[in-house]
Amino acid sequence: MSSMALDDYSKDQWHEAAARFSSRVETRHFIDGALRDSIDGGRFESVNPATGETLTAMAAGNHKDIDLAVAAARKTFESGVWSKMDPRARMKVLYRFADLVEANTEELAVLDSLDMGKPISDMVSVDVPLVAETIRFMAECIDKVDGSVTNTQADQLGLILREPLGVVGAITPWNYPQLMAAWKFAPALAAGNTVVLKPAEQSPMSAVRLAQLFMEAGGPAGAFNVVNGLGEAAGKPLALHMDVRKISFTGSTAVGKLMMQYAGQSNLKHVGLECGGKSPQIFLSDLPDMGAAVEAAYGGIYENMGEVCNAGSRLLVERSIYDEFVERFAAEGQHAYVPGDPLDPETSMGPLVSKQDQQRVLGMIEAGKAEGARLVFGGDAPADLEPGAFVNPTLFADVNNQMGIAQQEIFGPVASMIPFDSIEEALSLANDTIYGLAASVWTSDIDRAIRLTKGIEAGMVYVNAYDAGDFTQPFGGYKQSGNTRDACLDSYKNYTQQKACWIQLSGPA
Ligand code: NAD
Repeated sequence: MSSMALDDYSKDQWHEAAARFSSRVETRHFIDGALRDSIDGGRFESVNPATGETLTAMAAGNHKDIDLAVAAARKTFESGVWSKMDPRARMKVLYRFADLVEANTEELAVLDSLDMGKPISDMVSVDVPLVAETIRFMAECIDKVDGSVTNTQADQLGLILREPLGVVGAITPWNYPQLMAAWKFAPALAAGNTVVLKPAEQSPMSAVRLAQLFMEAGGPAGAFNVVNGLGEAAGKPLALHMDVRKISFTGSTAVGKLMMQYAGQSNLKHVGLECGGKSPQIFLSDLPDMGAAVEAAYGGIYENMGEVCNAGSRLLVERSIYDEFVERFAAEGQHAYVPGDPLDPETSMGPLVSKQDQQRVLGMIEAGKAEGARLVFGGDAPADLEPGAFVNPTLFADVNNQMGIAQQEIFGPVASMIPFDSIEEALSLANDTIYGLAASVWTSDIDRAIRLTKGIEAGMVYVNAYDAGDFTQPFGGYKQSGNTRDACLDSYKNYTQQKACWIQLSGPA
């Protein structure tokens, strides 16, 4: 069912859909076009963070299942059935795949909402449509991204061929389970590679469904494989595998660093990393629209429960407007996102991904209080939603950038407001972090906007906006936020390699 009809679903209809789909979740791996239990029979539980109830027990893969999946992906790659398919035929499969994703929005939306607590309205309006768009964009690249003929000596012809890499291993996080996976499998498959996807153990229920839809669209067996399991047991052997030519990782900076080690310990595979962030939004006193700025401030940190890599978690506000900004944020932002049942289409904020994560975030809030930050609102869990893993939207004011809450990625709905006195200070605070994913500048002054934009060490800078962009813009970070770009033309190219080809002629033409 398309998202159009789903816009009118009531809470009861979503609960009915959840009951229907959760009773038939596919718990096995998907390897070489077939559903398979783990070789050693391992299982892990998938828990609904909104209720604490166990949803199902998923197959827990280990190195044996990874070996099987990589062997299937390698065999399929080398057969040429996908890698050498006529480009327009490959495009057609991917377009059909995107159509099938849209047609199955109801199921795909329910699976992630149950698994990691995302509001169903976000699944229907953001996650699933963007998965389909990502597949379509990457399909469009197939016969648009060329190799080239180089300007070399007259008695030679220089060609640069662009070729797929081979088997791509994708390891993904749980905050946008299908979209983060699509940012990897879509360019990888479009460029002719084959894929083994290891989804996050907190949100495993939808990945096999996507791989099945790829095959339903005409994709060959073995091109898109999924092995579920824990990071150490299943992700590590994938990243260490000698037959994997690229590991494409989105997740924490700590685990991203391990990916580089695994590549070094094995076959020097390519490593694409999209990691954490502690992104600043800078609000100057001459900002054009205080209402829009305040809305972007709380939206930028409370959307998706703050579980967003480019969440605007540090709000740097010029001192002359600081008190008014805090006051308006408190008045408007406190009730803009109300925790509730993720399957209610009116809900804008679900639980955090797990009880463990709720405790981690509440612990960081306590640490912020102990460090002397002023808690303006929130800071606790809504009592009426126990035993769900909810945390109320939280604002700290008068934060010092050296405090833990300003330096560590909280990955929850916790904003830190920090005053500054000059644009030099704003820039220094903005860059005083190990991360460099995103930033914004709010001002009416073009000179200050450009100076700050150029000075900020971040992969994405928005002016008088936040979290904007489309496929024309690369998504990714500077510094310890990562080393690659997703969801753009370069991302497609990053799943190819260049072959220099010199052809010696008998003389100049
Ligand atoms: P995580 O690093 O804990 O896990 C990510 C993935 O790595 C999971 O699939 C996990 O099973 C796997 N993993 C864990 N340990 C492993 C190991 N030793 N070897 C191999 N694989 C291992 O991250 P998370 O908690 O799932 O996701 C949240 C993080 O992701 C945040 O830091 C967030 O900023 C980041 N993120 C970044 C982007 C981006 O584009 N930059 C997008 C989304 C999320």
